[in-house]
Amino acid sequence: MDDGSDDDLVFIEEERHPQGPSAQDSSWRVLIVDDDRDVHEATEFALSGVEILGRKLELIHAFSGKEAIALLEREQDVAVVLLDVVMESDDAGLKTVEAIRQELMLLNIRIILRTGQPGQAPEADTIARYDINDYKTKSELTHARLFTTLTSAIRSYSQLKCLDASRLGLEKIVSASNQFIAEKGLNAFADGVITQLASLIGIAPEGLVCATSSEGAGDPEQYRVIAAAGRYQHLIQHRLEEIDNVHIARSLNQVLRNHYSVVGSRDITLFFRKNSTEGFAAYIESAAPIRDVDQHLLEIFCTNIALCAKNIDLVTELRLDALVDRQVGLPNRNALIAELDRRAHDGATSNVVALVDIDQFAATNDMLGHAYGDALLRAMAQRLRALFDSSVFVARLAGDAFALTGPAHLLEADSIQRLFAHPFLIDDIDHAVSVCLGIAACADSADSQDTLNNAYVALRRAKALGIGQSITFSPEIGEAARQRTSLLRDLRQAFEQRELSIVYQPQIDLQTGRIIGAEALMRWQRRNGQFVPPEQFIPIAEQSGLIVSIGRWMLPEALRTLKRFHQAGLDGLHMAVNVSSIQLRQPGFLDFVNASLAETDVAPNHLELEITESIALESLETMIALLNQLRSRGITIAIDDFGTGYSSLNYLEQLPIDHLKIDRSFVTSLASSERGSRIVRTIALLGNELDVRTVAEGVENQSTGDRLREFGCHAAQGYHYAHPMDETSFLDWMKEHA
Ligand code: C2E
Ligand code: CA
Ligand code: CA
Repeated sequence: MDDGSDDDLVFIEEERHPQGPSAQDSSWRVLIVDDDRDVHEATEFALSGVEILGRKLELIHAFSGKEAIALLEREQDVAVVLLDVVMESDDAGLKTVEAIRQELMLLNIRIILRTGQPGQAPEADTIARYDINDYKTKSELTHARLFTTLTSAIRSYSQLKCLDASRLGLEKIVSASNQFIAEKGLNAFADGVITQLASLIGIAPEGLVCATSSEGAGDPEQYRVIAAAGRYQHLIQHRLEEIDNVHIARSLNQVLRNHYSVVGSRDITLFFRKNSTEGFAAYIESAAPIRDVDQHLLEIFCTNIALCAKNIDLVTELRLDALVDRQVGLPNRNALIAELDRRAHDGATSNVVALVDIDQFAATNDMLGHAYGDALLRAMAQRLRALFDSSVFVARLAGDAFALTGPAHLLEADSIQRLFAHPFLIDDIDHAVSVCLGIAACADSADSQDTLNNAYVALRRAKALGIGQSITFSPEIGEAARQRTSLLRDLRQAFEQRELSIVYQPQIDLQTGRIIGAEALMRWQRRNGQFVPPEQFIPIAEQSGLIVSIGRWMLPEALRTLKRFHQAGLDGLHMAVNVSSIQLRQPGFLDFVNASLAETDVAPNHLELEITESIALESLETMIALLNQLRSRGITIAIDDFGTGYSSLNYLEQLPIDHLKIDRSFVTSLASSERGSRIVRTIALLGNELDVRTVAEGVENQSTGDRLREFGCHAAQGYHYAHPMDETSFLDWMKEHA
């Protein structure tokens, strides 16, 4: 944006009145305080016609300390006080000094003490403490001495004033810069420049700001008035050449063309540089002569303001970024909230928010690449925008989630779902996409953020149900979400405080009747003794990701138990451990399993991992690779709850697995229905076909066990044989049933 040089900060001073800008209207004001009238007259006589540093003197008179203080309270800009020490009291003069410095807080004013006799002189530390400029006996103050004493006092007064102005100016520049950061757009900014500049110089804000345009930077035809204050207001947005005042037009033109500032006695035209070609100029005029402004301050002002101008461009961009999603060109979440607020404010009734979330976006993105993912998001954005009229506001939230808000009758779940019946054409290939929907009504009283949160709650419910689902928020759903949240909080605490434990359920070889292994199952017993069923807390642990930490504790723990089983003489047993797909997806999962085996000194072929069919919904290739790596170590893989998931037989054929666990629901129906029995037989046959062993779970009676054996099922577990037991009970049980 900028080439960094600031060589354009050249100030050109126009010719000035030789006496300086304000010779006649400013004289140095000198206050004479003495109770002796003769002293006043003598001083007046001695100083008549005298000029100091190019200015005349204006003498003011007071005849007591009290009067002097009253006077100084009213009068501005008194440079020097010639002060008698002994007046209404012996120390009236010193009291006056104290009041000037400490009560009136006049720190710049110079004080010269005069006494009748040398003995009345104040102590040295008093002189220092009150910053008394000089101390003279009256007889010492002859005409010549008075002149030199006053000159040095006035010089230091004027220097102090300048310092003051610089300090104030700097403060103003700093605060101006801060304000500019908050300005919206260049015009408001330029307005601010006039105000700030006028205040820096100490005149009324009246002036013009003219800017070059980025299109025709060097072309004066393109110079435009972007801010105008006071009597120039009518010129706003006019071209430079339309400014009726020739002097102003010429000054601005000159400054914009030459890239330097011009300081005149009644006006100032400053150049602010944005980059090597662009910039703008501010013209400020004052009816009264502009007092001697510190050139240095103006330079600082210009640099600072120019920097701010660059920031304005940046801020404008950022503001746009703040409201628009650049990737798909839709309004973003902030804009959605603003829109919801606006609609609520306008009293738009029966509006809803519908969140649209692409199913398995992350997995597809991994599989087909990010370019595909980006193209899909853009296609989604286009379709959503194109299919609704302007009464529906379409925004993109984070990631693969979009939001629609508008009248409820336009945003019904079914009608939105129908929009995704047709595939998306990406790179000339059709891609079928399904979405989950979460819908929430915009209640009159509700805050927009609450509405959006409700829609999110509904969306999460929908996603938990599977793909292509829609849920509309209701108070019951909200309550359930709150309960899940509090359950998760409790679970987290229970896990940290080691309140989770593991129980072990024996697995039986159906041919030999021998115990071949155990499945490790998690238990959560609350402090009050109540057990929370795994069906309740496991899904929450999975959704929140907490299952990863729990799993890191669980696997080595189960393996340590297995080691103790082996050491107790049960050396053929294997341990089956459930792992969720989210655990499998963790990048370090394989290393973690290896480390757990090494740490507990268990041979890999004694470990079985139970996974569910839903992992086939993940990137299949990655999953196959991982399973192959696990199996190559000797670990066995079982598909849990077989028959309840979504996967097709095609997936099953590709997955490298060792066991199929026939879901309990089928095993239960085996005894009660002919159909149930056919299903179980078919799964057992399928297992044989695929060359994997089948394990039946939930066997509750002898006859079911017998039927399973007839079907060629290999192993079984269930209450008929044993309930899940803690480690000690398991060992006792084994002793009895060996
Ligand atoms: P699952 O893996 O299918 O576990 C079998 C469930 O059936 C266990 O319930 C077990 O107690 C129960 N069961 C066993 N035999 C019988 C029977 O004869 N009749 C009946 N009615 N039920 C029987 P549990 O322990 O409540 O576990 C429920 C589910 O929680 C498990 O289903 C598994 O999906 C999950 N789970 C349990 N522990 C873990 C774990 O450590 N990690 C993970 N990821 N999931 C776990
Ligand atoms: Ca299991
Ligand atoms: Ca199961």
